[in-house]
Amino acid sequence: MCDCIFCKIANHEIPSTVVYEDDQVIAFDDLNPQAPVHTLVIPKKHYSDIADNVPAETMGAMAHAIQEVAKAKGLEDGFRVISNKGVNAGQTVMHFHMHILGGKNLGENLI
Ligand code: IMP
Repeated sequence: MCDCIFCKIANHEIPSTVVYEDDQVIAFDDLNPQAPVHTLVIPKKHYSDIADNVPAETMGAMAHAIQEVAKAKGLEDGFRVISNKGVNAGQTVMHFHMHILGGKNLGENLI
């Protein structure tokens, strides 16, 4: 039994605001948004982070999901995609995810 919170979201065992879903990935709104739009995209299969031998096919599905989220959220003025890997990046949930941030001018600084 997986004790990972994002695995539970992927399996619909705990609720989330789903923005996009297909057989490989799911996108849902972040619980603690850092911008007017803050959506997370995750693979349904568990990988600890972006460097955890994520297959190219899965990365393609993630890229497709990002485009679908951008459309669904009306981000035609732009958005930012971030993936934190490990302690130095401040990763807090050890299930690979990409943050999609937008809905305002985010400025030049990444942090
Ligand atoms: P990280 O710091 O890159 O690992 O990002 C983890 C993100 O997951 C943070 O932005 C959290 O707000 C978000 N988060 C944690 N638990 C949940 C949840 O149950 N639902 C939605 N977002 C969550």
